[in-house]
Amino acid sequence: MTSPRADVTAEPPPAPRAAPAVSAAEAPLVERAPHRPAPPAPRSTPQHRTAPHRSAPQGRGGPPRLPPHPALLPAPPRRTMSVPEPAGGEEAKQAKEAEDAEKFSFMATVTKAPKKQIQFADDMQEFTKFPTKTGRRSLSRSISQSSTDSYSSAASYTDSSDDEVSPREKQQTNSKGSSNFCVKNIKQAEFGRREIEIAEQDMSALISLRKRAQGEKPLAGAKIVGCTHITAQTAVLIETLCALGAQCRWSACNIYSTQNEVAAALAEAGVAVFAWKGESEDDFWWCIDRCVNVDGWQANMILDDGGDLTHWVYKKYPNIFKKIRGIVEESVTGVHRLYQLSKAGKLCVPAMNVNDSVTKQKFDNLYCCRESILDGLKRTTDVMFGGKQVVVCGYGEVGKGCCAALKALGAIVYVTEIDPICALQACMDGFRVVKLSEVIRQVDVVITCTGNKNVVTREHLDRMKNSCIVCNMGHSNTEIDVTSLRTPELTWERVRSQVDHVIWPDGKRVVLLAEGRLLNLSCSTVPTFVLSITATTQALALIELYNAPEGRYKQDVYLLPKKMDEYVASLHLPSFDAHLTELTDDQAKYLGLNKNGPFKPNYYRY
Ligand code: NAD
Repeated sequence: MTSPRADVTAEPPPAPRAAPAVSAAEAPLVERAPHRPAPPAPRSTPQHRTAPHRSAPQGRGGPPRLPPHPALLPAPPRRTMSVPEPAGGEEAKQAKEAEDAEKFSFMATVTKAPKKQIQFADDMQEFTKFPTKTGRRSLSRSISQSSTDSYSSAASYTDSSDDEVSPREKQQTNSKGSSNFCVKNIKQAEFGRREIEIAEQDMSALISLRKRAQGEKPLAGAKIVGCTHITAQTAVLIETLCALGAQCRWSACNIYSTQNEVAAALAEAGVAVFAWKGESEDDFWWCIDRCVNVDGWQANMILDDGGDLTHWVYKKYPNIFKKIRGIVEESVTGVHRLYQLSKAGKLCVPAMNVNDSVTKQKFDNLYCCRESILDGLKRTTDVMFGGKQVVVCGYGEVGKGCCAALKALGAIVYVTEIDPICALQACMDGFRVVKLSEVIRQVDVVITCTGNKNVVTREHLDRMKNSCIVCNMGHSNTEIDVTSLRTPELTWERVRSQVDHVIWPDGKRVVLLAEGRLLNLSCSTVPTFVLSITATTQALALIELYNAPEGRYKQDVYLLPKKMDEYVASLHLPSFDAHLTELTDDQAKYLGLNKNGPFKPNYYRY
């Protein structure tokens, strides 16, 4: 999500490889990503509604069955989706895992979704035009916003100031004598290992996938170059990939978010990790380069979060794409760039958009924000919510999560919306739907969650009451017009980390959090369980892309099929001792479903 990168377009991307033919039997497990919605027509223009695309009901009418992936082959089959034993003993757990595996093996029956033309909103940024970063440290005009939005994950034993020597200047070796890494301090590895073990506790789905597929080594031969947040949770993912046979080289997608001790633990365990908290822009690209540009080692898979790694490979080492079997991309921004490359005919390998899988969207947007909004506000301001008046702009997934949490604490919550359906939902949920201008003078907190820009303008900011708290949970740093506050008549006072008082000439103060960047990523932690879902999806996407027969995927962007989404969800159910009901044959026939899923059509809105 950041600044000009005119240099990117200067170099032509590698020539696309010829698309191999796809036979019916080799139809992909994944469906093509859906249309990106075109920008809405002006209100005065009547809009024609098109029914959502209805794919042939999966599981009906015998779509071609694909060979189940070896990694996902079930243990000796037991009952399919039967009710597990009430006791949570090891045997019951194994039985459940076997059932899940059996269920997943049926994913191979998923049909390829009909091709759709990918559309783009006109107002979306070009691949090379990123919004300008507004971080205090003006480090970069060329790294993405996602590299400055920070997941301040879990406890950190260190920070970037504990040692002023750049890791690049240090000679470090791990206990096995390897120096194939660059981290802040390898001696912190033990602390990092504890962090990883704590994260593992709430990532049992990933651990169960690790255990199940460990014998098969579905990623044997995979050389994965990754660029994600380096936290305890991603360490669990990286170590899972290694356990499944992959070699990994990893850098951080964010200059602030690396947990140094976790990076040290990974380095100690033999992962080639190049990352530390508080990298400069130059460090950021250097670390990525160290992962990609290696004598005698060439990546054949990319796992990216934000698109910076993909961008770097396109820009500097396009030949690498000849060996790359696929890209798995996690972020909104990165996925958007992939769609743009695809639209321009420049995407030369298959890519999987894990960002738009149902489990990711629902959990990341709704449940994660429901949990983290209060955490972020309380850590920064110590605000008490009972009786406070809060306006939430946007009642989509993120807005719904925020509103639910605020309401539960006794806040008086107003909602602003542009969409009558979401507005009606807000009404039915008991919130007053208003225009921002109607309540701006009286509210104590303003939260943006729209994915839009300039939702809170200077005019709104001028009219806010003293001590009003303003923050953003939506899109990077565009929703609040922070730039309009950088004028001579206003004084900025940094009162805490991520908390600025903007002071008007009459003494009025507005409390601006994280300079308008994402509050929860900047000021609170993200629940491990949510990250487990995303990480599981990423691991499955890598396994699928790496093992797909030639021709199953073309140079395009694909979504995970619903069946994989359901599988990711089912892997997480044992954490709650949740017992799924199994369809009877009669019921399955009545509903026209395969007993093993998928259970919903693609157009189903959860
Ligand atoms: P969404 O599309 O479901 O909801 C956005 C809502 O905002 C829509 O209902 C839309 O009608 C409304 N809206 C748009 N412009 C508006 C305006 N000017 N005034 C009032 N309402 C307006 O999207 P979502 O899933 O809720 O995500 C919203 C944003 O949050 C996205 O940018 C997404 O990338 C981001 N996000 C943040 C986090 C986080 O952890 N903070 C997590 C997931 C997504």
